[in-house]
Amino acid sequence: MTRKTQIDWQALSQKLRLRTQAFIDGQYVDAMDGATFESINPRTGQAVSKVARCGSADVDRAVAAAKKAFDSGVWAARSPRERKQVLARLSDLILQHADELAWLDSADMGKPVNDALSIDIPGAAGVFAWYAESADKVYDQIAPLGPDVHATITREPVGVVAAVVPWNFPLDMAAWKLAPALVCGNSVVLKPAEQSPHSALRLAELALQAGVPAGVLNVVPGLGPEAGQALGRHPDVASLTFTGSTEVGKLFQRYAGESNMKMVWLEAGGKSANLIFDDCADLDLAAAKAAFGFCFNQGEVCSANTRLLVQRGVWDRFMERLLVHLKSWQPGDPLNADSRMGALVDRGHADRVMQFIESGRREGGSVLAGGQRLTIGASDCYVQPTVLTGLGPEATLVREEVFGPVAVATPFEMEAQALQWANSSPYGLAASVWTDDLKRAHRVARALRVGTVSVNTVDALDPCVPFGGFGQSGFGRDLSLHALDKFTQLKTSWFDLKT
Ligand code: NAP
Ligand code: MG
Repeated sequence: MTRKTQIDWQALSQKLRLRTQAFIDGQYVDAMDGATFESINPRTGQAVSKVARCGSADVDRAVAAAKKAFDSGVWAARSPRERKQVLARLSDLILQHADELAWLDSADMGKPVNDALSIDIPGAAGVFAWYAESADKVYDQIAPLGPDVHATITREPVGVVAAVVPWNFPLDMAAWKLAPALVCGNSVVLKPAEQSPHSALRLAELALQAGVPAGVLNVVPGLGPEAGQALGRHPDVASLTFTGSTEVGKLFQRYAGESNMKMVWLEAGGKSANLIFDDCADLDLAAAKAAFGFCFNQGEVCSANTRLLVQRGVWDRFMERLLVHLKSWQPGDPLNADSRMGALVDRGHADRVMQFIESGRREGGSVLAGGQRLTIGASDCYVQPTVLTGLGPEATLVREEVFGPVAVATPFEMEAQALQWANSSPYGLAASVWTDDLKRAHRVARALRVGTVSVNTVDALDPCVPFGGFGQSGFGRDLSLHALDKFTQLKTSWFDLKT
């Protein structure tokens, strides 16, 4: 398949009609007070559209629609097989609209449009297809209580689910939340990130077209402290699933505690380590994957491997290969088919990433690669892939999540030291290990206090396996059947047969 050129993408974008209103009860509507916010394309610095700025009155309306739909049984009482068919159709529709959805995500948050097209959009479709298939394959249980009692343990939908998601993988993050929530029969109110509302708004319409009844999926674009907080505090939201920063995650726990004690599930930040041992045979592959590990998606990945721990014996050779691979990750126009790294999400975020790099210099680190902000076309939202070294465990760059293409490399001598450093973060989302020693691979994988350990690769991810963190990376899991725990409650029904 020939890849689209910049001109093709621009032509496509001119034909698109952007959805900018909230989607409530099956219809696009303005915010009740008519408020809007501007959505800026980081590639051009220009406004793409004015989007409805939902406040608490709009959230009330969306939650009421969701609750009414849930209580009516129009979705929850359908057979699992019918829900499967609808979500499978939605998966197909996502693929049929892949170009449009890819452009929307790229224009909203700056990622290479080709990555959106080849990774994000099929990923979202795949997640809907996977959960659709689960609908009529997950059984309930009967407790082993003998002939006098028949006790069933059933999973039941919780009712109204709120999903609050970030901007780094707009369609995928929405899909990770919506697919398992919907397949169980819940109704959902989704708040996309302020920077990336368009694909979620389009998805809502595709869901309706696929057969998700009006009111079952609602989308309320808006600002975190307004629409996000209103969902967090809403008395009729039974479960809230969040992906975003640790700081905002903690706010949702507070909102729940101060309102109706809704379930809150947090996928939060990370500072993942990548351990390269001197018994790793393919150092070039390790270096190529290490570059991917902190440059893919402009480094705006919660599980990005931003702490490189390299055993002394291979330090020189590994670093030399890493610097070679970083050359292919130089930022470029997101609409250019050859760009592997695009624009950061907005100017404010690019400022923050540069301040982190400055902190590294100030705190005694030396820059081995990158370190510069670039202007490409009309935008200065580009930062080179950057590696620093010479920073101790207390350095800001070693402790804090940057969410940009910035890694700190540190040599180590012994396995125990590497493990101690790897585990010394308040986060615990993911880690990678490179070794050809089978026993070491198992020993180290077991000792790492993280949600996902990738051995001889980085960022292992699939709908078949749970994703989520230890520590302040959050709790609860996205993907896999384990995600269903967030959107169902267990009911025990005890039938006494003696009497
Ligand atoms: P963020 O600022 O925490 O925002 C996430 C969501 O929360 C957005 O929809 C945001 O709305 C909303 N929000 C912000 N402030 C709020 C408030 N006071 N009350 C209620 N809601 C509020 O995170 P981000 O900057 O979009 O994304 C980057 C973060 O996400 C990183 O820390 C990254 O590690 C994390 N992340 C984690 C995972 C994971 O699976 N563990 C995956 C991807 C990203 P606005 O957009 O309007 O601010
Ligand atoms: Mg934000």
